[in-house]
Amino acid sequence: MDLFTFNDMTKINRTELGDEVPLELFRAIRLIGMYQGLPMEGKTTTLTVGRKIGRSIPADTVEQFLDMFKALKIGAMTLLEQTDSYMLFRVDDCFCSGLPVKGKKVCDLEGAILEGALKRILSNNNLSVYESKCNINGDDYCEYTVRKYNNIDD
Ligand SMILES: [Zn+2]
Repeated sequence: MDLFTFNDMTKINRTELGDEVPLELFRAIRLIGMYQGLPMEGKTTTLTVGRKIGRSIPADTVEQFLDMFKALKIGAMTLLEQTDSYMLFRVDDCFCSGLPVKGKKVCDLEGAILEGALKRILSNNNLSVYESKCNINGDDYCEYTVRKYNNIDD
């Protein structure tokens, strides 16, 4: 079987139910299925899954990626600060917004999506994304801190 591409995901032929699924379903897959259902709160799996999705998202610039992130209704992400070695992203209206506060950061998949996308867009495999704030942790919004190092690959 050929591998699926992100473009394949946009081919939808549903006559009655349309092209969207409820946020409850996305949350259930993310938090009940992955976060609670997998070993170690899904940490390694989540990273693998998120990075793979991030790399597949068709965006050539950070701005295009932020547009896609919003269009996919994961959240409204903005780039707050940037230097050569650092980026700070804020997410408003994150998919998690409104869930009960549990004192934990749970939006690691979304951070891994950001990481996969940035690695491809910036042509730098030597960067990492850290979830620095999360609504579920009691913070006012979700936030990702990116550390960029000199690219050691190619
Ligand atoms: Zn969140």
